[in-house]
Amino acid sequence: MRHAIDYGTRELNREAAAMAKYQHNGAGPILEVRDLRTHFMTRQGLVRAVNGVSFELEKGETLGLVGESGSGKTITCLSILRLLPRGGQVVGGEIILEGQDILKTSEDEMGRLRGKKVGMILQNSMAALDPVFSIGTQIAEPLVAHQGLPWKRALAGAIDLLRMVKINDPEVRVRNYPHELSGGMRQRSSSAASIGPHPDVLIADEPTTALDVTTQRQYLDLLKELQKATGMAIIFITHDISIVGNLCDKLAVFYGGLVVEYGSKDQVLNNPSHPYTKALLKALPILGEKRERLQTIPGEPPHAGNLPPACPFHPRCEQAMDNCKEGDAPPIFDLGYGHQARCWLLEKDDEQYSR
Ligand code: SF4
Repeated sequence: MRHAIDYGTRELNREAAAMAKYQHNGAGPILEVRDLRTHFMTRQGLVRAVNGVSFELEKGETLGLVGESGSGKTITCLSILRLLPRGGQVVGGEIILEGQDILKTSEDEMGRLRGKKVGMILQNSMAALDPVFSIGTQIAEPLVAHQGLPWKRALAGAIDLLRMVKINDPEVRVRNYPHELSGGMRQRSSSAASIGPHPDVLIADEPTTALDVTTQRQYLDLLKELQKATGMAIIFITHDISIVGNLCDKLAVFYGGLVVEYGSKDQVLNNPSHPYTKALLKALPILGEKRERLQTIPGEPPHAGNLPPACPFHPRCEQAMDNCKEGDAPPIFDLGYGHQARCWLLEKDDEQYSR
């Protein structure tokens, strides 16, 4: 029988264990998210945006959070930064950054960690950059705030960072305002501002959505180069599973505020085990393969304020059984070597189970 993993009933004092693990020669994950639950109280009622999300991130590693809009990816990352929109609250779980549960740190301490330990690149670079300040000012400010550099040196650092993200004529561009740059240059400048203070973890929230395909490819290559140069870990949020193959080491597939499948890139892409992951991959065009029409997933993703009971994917799942529609959500089943998925089909004996 496969073993279900219940994060809620483990006996270990996780915080102490994580601290001990990290302090032991600095090994162990740089970030651990354990059974995270984030809810919103709205006029329409309770919105359960994140319902028990767990993952780990090692130094220098890239984790892709994949799923449709509203599946809980961005709210998970805003919970890590403790920058939730109004009405949002983390109601359970732990977020261990370098051995420290950041849900228990003071707001002052959190202000110091943000940007310095965990940086974020937003989806919309126009919204991320302030239109009334020059690019140089906006890249230099975090260097003053987090690295204590005097203004002149911070501005020189801004020029170096613009050069690092491959912007031509950085000495000129540093004086430009956001509206004077192309979309691709704005996204690079916004990335320069985020990586300037050398964060250990960089969250990139759909950074390529507004870019054309060629610029998107160049930007993803740049992100990999920057990671190699700085050693930072990256959490890459995307709704597009087709772009994670070259970029990510691990994947967490989100649906209805849950991670429904988790594992190495190869495990998830080459051996998908959850019906939702399989459906996402079947919807991708394959170069050189002729198909009459691409498969689509029937129905709509659920709204977090009105999640289906039990398995949130059951109204769209072709393999749904009676026990998928009532009772609790399926537990996480361990498929071996770190590969996990939440689906009752995986409860079967190994002999009975077939993909
Ligand atoms: Fe489909 Fe049931 Fe598995 Fe959910 S638990 S993905 S409904 S088979």
